[in-house]
Amino acid sequence: MMRPVTKYIFITGGVVSSLGKGIVAASLGRLLRSRGYKVSIQKFDPYINVDPGTMSPFQHGEVYVTNDGAETDLDLGHYERFIDTSLTSLNNVTAGSIYLSVISKERRGDYLGATVQTIPHVTDEIKNKIHEAANKLAPDFLICEIGGTIGDIEGLPFVEAVRQFRYDVGFKNTCFIHVTLVPYLKTSGEVKTKPSQHSVNALRNVGIQPDILVCRTETILGENERLKLAQFTNVDPEAVIQCLDQDCLYEVPLALEKEGLAREVLVRLGVENTTPNLEAWKKTVECLKHPSKKVKIGIAGKYTGLSDAYLSVIESLKHAAATVDSSVELKWINSEDCVDMDATEALLQDLDGIVIPGGFGYRGIEGKINVIQYARENQLPFLGLCLGMQCAVIEYARHVAQLTRANSAEFDPITDQPVVALMDDQKEVMEKGGTMRLGQYPCHLVKNSKAHTVYGTDVIMERHRHRYEINNDYRQILVDAGLVISGTSPDRKLVEIIELENHPWFVASQFHPEFQSRPDNPHPLFKGLLAAAVKHHYPQEETPEITPLPSLESYNRS
Ligand code: GLN
Repeated sequence: MMRPVTKYIFITGGVVSSLGKGIVAASLGRLLRSRGYKVSIQKFDPYINVDPGTMSPFQHGEVYVTNDGAETDLDLGHYERFIDTSLTSLNNVTAGSIYLSVISKERRGDYLGATVQTIPHVTDEIKNKIHEAANKLAPDFLICEIGGTIGDIEGLPFVEAVRQFRYDVGFKNTCFIHVTLVPYLKTSGEVKTKPSQHSVNALRNVGIQPDILVCRTETILGENERLKLAQFTNVDPEAVIQCLDQDCLYEVPLALEKEGLAREVLVRLGVENTTPNLEAWKKTVECLKHPSKKVKIGIAGKYTGLSDAYLSVIESLKHAAATVDSSVELKWINSEDCVDMDATEALLQDLDGIVIPGGFGYRGIEGKINVIQYARENQLPFLGLCLGMQCAVIEYARHVAQLTRANSAEFDPITDQPVVALMDDQKEVMEKGGTMRLGQYPCHLVKNSKAHTVYGTDVIMERHRHRYEINNDYRQILVDAGLVISGTSPDRKLVEIIELENHPWFVASQFHPEFQSRPDNPHPLFKGLLAAAVKHHYPQEETPEITPLPSLESYNRS
């Protein structure tokens, strides 16, 4: 049987950046998924980097890694969490990757002497990426979000490509959504529609009339404003959709369902509007919004105050907290402030748990090691992620295994006790982009370990992004000193999880579990941390039971 044609939904943004287009795209994805459709979401990023892997988290926030090892925009994390579907390298396309491909073709002579131009060569390349995602991923709906704001020079080839795409695949198969800001002016007490009018004008100038307007607003839009927006943007009044700020991110799909976003999309695409099954999602939101307990978790890193740099870690903590009937208050700890054990104690003593997330470079490392020593010696629940695990091994080597000069070759290339070192296949690597150990790898768990208990299975698949590994030359010394290696690669050559006995929760992984936590299917390692944190905060109570949240589709980690 022929697959029904994919329907395409293009999302642009206007007025300001950081509008939350990604959340709108992800929410619409959830609403269509809840109606039983297969959904995929593609993000176009108009910058010239080939991928965000080489960009500083200060500039770009977290680099999100897919199963197939693509280093992508953090919006892909939102997409995966909302549509509960693992995405691929096809789901993130940057201008840099498009130009790289066009220029490589030109050098190979593929264009047969033609003058290579933005139109048609760059736009064709973009359209090909949309077709490729549709053909290979075969969704019923492919939602394409164009990064940036309408009017940006660098976004123009993408806008022109999707304008042409509508013509190529037919009007009935495409829907354009423009997400815009409708600000409230406190001084005049009014909601202003003019910026949105201008933004739609800018979109029309490049040949696109939006079908649907999604209006980000902090106050409820009155009927007058809605009609005014419709009239001056040529959008059906029914298709002017209010998107009010919500306390909890995961409420946005529910709010947009009430406003009729999915209904309007489906009407325009000629697809029947069935009743969505949002019951499980609603229960998850309830658990997230109304817990009875509260714990305080520290995140010790160097990008403190820049929550986008640790977005998936924060979301994973929230998901896991809900399963033990708790909310989570975050405390940002700049590891550079943890200069000695007194300073570290002063910063950590009010915590119920601590996370050391991933990172690169030497700055702040000694502080992280102090944090880990404090957590280890004071029974404070600890979860180390990638760099966090490497630091935990250095700490254990220095203070327990008597390897007092232990270090990572990343921080001290000439250390004589490199307990963390480069893998052989990384030694020759010169290029920075896309060359780390990236994407999903299997990991075998050791029976009766904490890791095995929380995962409840023997083999797991987890996502990696690092160059360095625990050095096998020191493995036996560390094990003899009491370090438990509870997860390894199938050939046992790579250490993937470490943990400690006689500690409520001291677990660290070489991989990044945060990329696989979903609101309705939180990650076992984060659940373990949060259960221990609740026990730390409420020591009188029974060990909290980790209640599985209702899962729409329990995806297979292994
Ligand atoms: N810098 C370390 C490495 O490259 C850890 C990387 C990370 O935390 N993602 O191995």
